[in-house]
Amino acid sequence: MTLRRLGLMPSTFLVMALSFVISFLSLLGQLRPWPATLPQGLLSLDIADELHYGPNATARFSIDYGRLTEAAPAAVLYPSSPDDIAALVRFSYASPRPFVIAARGHGHSTRGQAFAPGGVVVDMASLGRGRRAGRRDRINVPLDDVHRLRYVDAGGEQLWIDVLRETLEHGVAPRSWTDYLYLTVGGTLSNAGISGQAFRHGPQISNVHELDVITGKGDMVTCSRDVNSDLFYGVLGGLGQLGIITRARIAVEPAPQRVRWVRFIYTDFGSFINDQELLISISEEGFDYVEGQLLMKNGAANSSFFSEGDSEKIRVLAAEFGAIYFLEGAIYYELSTASSVDQKLKLLLKKLSFVPGFAFTKDVSYLRFLDRVHRDEIKLRPMGLWDVPHPWLNLFVPKSRMRDFETGIFRGILIENDTPMATVLISPMNKSKWDEKMSVTIPDEDIFYAIGILRSATMDDRKHLDDQNDQILRFCDQAGIEFKQYLPHYTTQADWKKHFGVKWDRFVQLKRRYDPKALLSPGQRIFTTSL
Ligand code: FAD
Repeated sequence: MTLRRLGLMPSTFLVMALSFVISFLSLLGQLRPWPATLPQGLLSLDIADELHYGPNATARFSIDYGRLTEAAPAAVLYPSSPDDIAALVRFSYASPRPFVIAARGHGHSTRGQAFAPGGVVVDMASLGRGRRAGRRDRINVPLDDVHRLRYVDAGGEQLWIDVLRETLEHGVAPRSWTDYLYLTVGGTLSNAGISGQAFRHGPQISNVHELDVITGKGDMVTCSRDVNSDLFYGVLGGLGQLGIITRARIAVEPAPQRVRWVRFIYTDFGSFINDQELLISISEEGFDYVEGQLLMKNGAANSSFFSEGDSEKIRVLAAEFGAIYFLEGAIYYELSTASSVDQKLKLLLKKLSFVPGFAFTKDVSYLRFLDRVHRDEIKLRPMGLWDVPHPWLNLFVPKSRMRDFETGIFRGILIENDTPMATVLISPMNKSKWDEKMSVTIPDEDIFYAIGILRSATMDDRKHLDDQNDQILRFCDQAGIEFKQYLPHYTTQADWKKHFGVKWDRFVQLKRRYDPKALLSPGQRIFTTSL
């Protein structure tokens, strides 16, 4: 599509381009079939969406899960196919006054990372419900007979819960997950995608064979470790800066049927992290999943995992110690090998130093285990506690500084300001499972921790909690803790440069090659001008 074809004057290019998009959207529902003067199939609005969200379609793309910031796009693209997205990017790229474009997965960022202020947001979900391809068409689980390789091909817009459901029907599933599955493939691969399996399989980005990507020039490129490898490595963990992922080929393994899910309570931080580190150093005979949490006395054991009686017992312990920790593990198994699980668990328990009498177990299906956070969502939504501000802070902290982190932050800042609606995740990671060539940045130590300080706020205390986040970052800087932010948020290029560290120059080179006009994912605020 070119402006010439639309018969517009170059001087009015941007304004007309965007107003054409906007008027097209607002006309939709009244005008079908499309007028012949408009490019067929480029812009389409799912009629259900308009009925559902009303005529102001941009409003819901001006906020995200964080509810901390707002920025309106000028327009929203509802693509029916990747070609539509490529056409939009090419249109902007060819323009003398290009407009910014952000792929929006499920909008679960917290700081406007998927916003396109004054530009176009691409509603990726439309790909999966477009007229030309239904969800089923965009998640495939073929068997590569030549290599005996099993994988799933999933559209970048697909939610991980749908990838899970589809793969389970074939008896397989991806190996590496996020705690919450209502996130998109493209959204998590642009960050890393971490959960308790990452110590063994690496983050989700370490489990990708191939990608289809639309670059900032509108080129549609297939890339892998062998083909167009610079784009492949750059896009994984690349914060949407180098291209829009429209398909990912993801490694799968035979799916287990059942999960023995355990939590052990610790009052001593040293024993807690020693046990975590022990568990991520053993492979097959250990857990398949390892995470942990800080429990502060107000929120101790709020989770549906614990029975009422156990919650009370844990609350008493937390009140006595001010804060306690739980280590969370999972052993996957088949019904046919169920008898060996008790034995495996018994052997593992002997190696661990949790508080005697404070080991809790559950036995659930694999789907139930992986989809556990959604159960909390279902509980919190009707209470009005889901769609609230989320001043979250996620950090990767080197193992050598975890004691300082505990003293200064867990005990020093968080426990003193205990908030009931806080989840503080503490998950150990093996650096060897992360690919140095990918764009994501991690601390330079063999073991590091992913710390998620996930707090829900009211309109009144969100500023206060954000100030505390700044206090935490200042503490780390002053104590010389070489942390990296995960799901990073910075507002100056100097800070981004520091964040990327030795990867910065390479990242800039890739940006210059694949998105020289800095069109993509402007909400990350890394590049604000052409390169
Ligand atoms: P969006 O927020 O829509 O987009 C995020 C960024 O990626 C934006 O810059 C956007 O432009 C870009 N983007 C989106 N789609 C594409 C695409 N197809 N191609 C290229 N760029 C794209 N993360 C974890 O790692 N582990 C967890 O356990 C975890 N749990 C979470 C639980 C909850 C309740 C929430 C809200 C978030 C959680 N996250 C977790 C964070 C999550 O990974 C990020 O929010 C991530 O951005 C995915 O969200 P999304 O798919 O909605 O992407």
